[in-house]
Amino acid sequence: MAGKIGVYFDQQNIGGGLDLEALAAQTREKWGDVTPVVRVVPLLADSLDVIAGDIAAQSLNGVLLCGSSPRADGDLYRLSAQVGHVNLREQCVLSYKNADGSAPACGDAPELLTLLARDYVNMGVVRLQKSENPDSAAVTGVKRILVIGGGWTGLTAATEGAACGYEVVLVEKAGRLGGAANDIPVGSPLESPWTDKQPTNIADKIKAVTGNSNIRVYLNARMEKLEGQPGEFTASIAADGGSVSVEVGAVVLASGWTALDDKYLAPMGLGKCPKITTAARFGKQLVDGEVTARRIAFVLDTTMAEEAAQNSMRDAVLQGQPEPVAAQAKEGEEKVFIKEDLENIRHLAYSNAVNSVGMLRLANSVAANEATQVFILYKNMTVPGIFERFYKKMQEHLGIMMTKADVTGIAEVGDHVVVECKNTLLGMDFDLDVDLVVLPTGLVPTTAKEAVVEFAYRQGPDFPDMELFDGFADSNYICFPYETRRTGVYAAGCVRQPQTLDACEEDARGAVLKAAQCIDSASRGVAVHPRSGDASYPVFNFVRCTQCKRCTEECPFGALDDDEKGTPKPNPGRCRRCGTCFGACPERVISFADYNIDQIGSMIREVVVPKDFKKEGPRILILACENDAYPALDMAGMRRKAWSPYVRIIPVRCLGSVNAIWVSDAMSKGFDGVMLLGCKYGGDYQCHFVKGSEICSKRKENIAETLNRLGVQPERVEQFEVAIDGYDAISDLIDGFVGRIIEMGPNPFKGM
Ligand code: SF4
Ligand code: SF4
Repeated sequence: MAGKIGVYFDQQNIGGGLDLEALAAQTREKWGDVTPVVRVVPLLADSLDVIAGDIAAQSLNGVLLCGSSPRADGDLYRLSAQVGHVNLREQCVLSYKNADGSAPACGDAPELLTLLARDYVNMGVVRLQKSENPDSAAVTGVKRILVIGGGWTGLTAATEGAACGYEVVLVEKAGRLGGAANDIPVGSPLESPWTDKQPTNIADKIKAVTGNSNIRVYLNARMEKLEGQPGEFTASIAADGGSVSVEVGAVVLASGWTALDDKYLAPMGLGKCPKITTAARFGKQLVDGEVTARRIAFVLDTTMAEEAAQNSMRDAVLQGQPEPVAAQAKEGEEKVFIKEDLENIRHLAYSNAVNSVGMLRLANSVAANEATQVFILYKNMTVPGIFERFYKKMQEHLGIMMTKADVTGIAEVGDHVVVECKNTLLGMDFDLDVDLVVLPTGLVPTTAKEAVVEFAYRQGPDFPDMELFDGFADSNYICFPYETRRTGVYAAGCVRQPQTLDACEEDARGAVLKAAQCIDSASRGVAVHPRSGDASYPVFNFVRCTQCKRCTEECPFGALDDDEKGTPKPNPGRCRRCGTCFGACPERVISFADYNIDQIGSMIREVVVPKDFKKEGPRILILACENDAYPALDMAGMRRKAWSPYVRIIPVRCLGSVNAIWVSDAMSKGFDGVMLLGCKYGGDYQCHFVKGSEICSKRKENIAETLNRLGVQPERVEQFEVAIDGYDAISDLIDGFVGRIIEMGPNPFKGM
């Protein structure tokens, strides 16, 4: 609790728009002994010595900096007292316009701007007053990394982890290391000039692992259980006919991929004719020296398979079968594809880049034999980055004929296979006679098939909501690569997304660095991502807990286990400090030292809401997600995209942390409307905490029902999706909402 707060106003950053001496005077008057020091300083960034002197002389335990957004320069102020910020630059002075939409005239600060600034300062003081320095929940931080999977990615992760000074335990389910890379005859170019195949040297990679005394390898092994939390996990591994228990600090998940079921490529002849195979099988045949075909077609167009699946499902639906269960073909009938099949078949599209590079690589290999003719028929040749050079070189290869084509039929005719090609680059349609057809391989992440890690977590042994990611073990492609929905477990390689060998190596290094960062953070008791360095964690007042289990069920990261009665058992190391649990708790028994229900409620109550709606205008509360919406507001302010002076903004960690009581507090206080600004949700969500904004939208429905029952229009509370690049639209969004509230008239509870 900050009981002695120094308040500082930044003349250079906000003094041009506000009368800071007047603001300082009102602060002294209102807060009395709570704020023994109130100063206007020429420039906050130059005043660190002055502030440090005040902290020492006045025994201040809180410092409130009123100036620019904490996102602009918050990192500068590392002081011995708690630091709070009041954003009077971007979200007050720069974004202010008069109630009629006009720009403020030069000279004295307009009254509405002064009221706005006053509210924000008062909200800042009370926020700091109700905040404490968190005690961190540090654990040992075992310096050992568990790598699950001994293929190309896992081997790289193991050697890189050991090179970083960590012990490594590697678990491989097969009887030998190397995984799918053992069946890859040659590698793609891995160095300049990037134009020719290269040996994979998988044997050297394996030797680097088996010869490293800091890496312990378990073959024919599988995970039985992973329990605990980052920094102090216990991994139970089934190996050598028994079970081994190992303490590890973090996990790199490199369990790779399995091939998409053959049935999906059956419409292209796979399984019906031995002369039609997949790229993965062809690679293995090459390694085993079993390829005798002399005319080989690599087909990089799976439209036939995709259309067959769609038509099959459409026919089933037309026959009256409900969409998702149109699966079960009657005996003797051909299998009908279902919705799930359409989702599975997408893995062919996701794997297109890997197959493009892979087919060039395989073609490069077989075309070395002059007696072999190779054809590459592609719909979309997707070669990432510098592999373009490899592609160009293969185009010039005399043994390879490459053309864009729609492959519309593949049929066995006598002792050869005919591939029907339409819309080719040669300007004509043709049928190609070949000895062998190679189709793409769909790389399906192992996590789509089974629980690879076997978490001993209350929410179950697998990663949750895998359908959102088509089975890939990633939680946010946009912002946090390698992060999974389980803190301390970092995915790399094809279990994260289909990737070429060079990309898998990079992934392995990235995931190892994340694992190292996680162990270090756990040993200091702070969060890794996205709130890196945050020492706070949720604290429970169990006396009032009703064991309703909402928090344990809604935590997006499985951080809370529970006992047989349903009392939550927190694991602070797994926690990402999003606050979703405290947003969920109906008893309001969860809090963070520096972020809690009472604190935000007090800020809401601190706003002066005028009684005369007509004369003094409405008041609108905005609860803005600090990850995207808040910076978008800052950028809008910087670009002078002003918005209504009737709104008051409070940043929240995530919309998932919004507790319904805050909305009730606002409505009882007399606010006329509440805007909830958060990230996009749904299948292609952008929420940093995965489900926070989605959960909030569900809670909002309950709030709307309650408002309705009380005779208050539910439209007074609305949630909006705002991306970080939505800064040009955000002021119109706010003004639109304010306009609708003005039309609706005052909150019926105003003044009660
Ligand atoms: S909901 Fe968020 S804050 Fe609460 S325990 Fe889970 S990760 Fe931590
Ligand atoms: S949501 Fe609150 S009341 Fe319900 S189990 Fe969790 S802590 Fe207890």
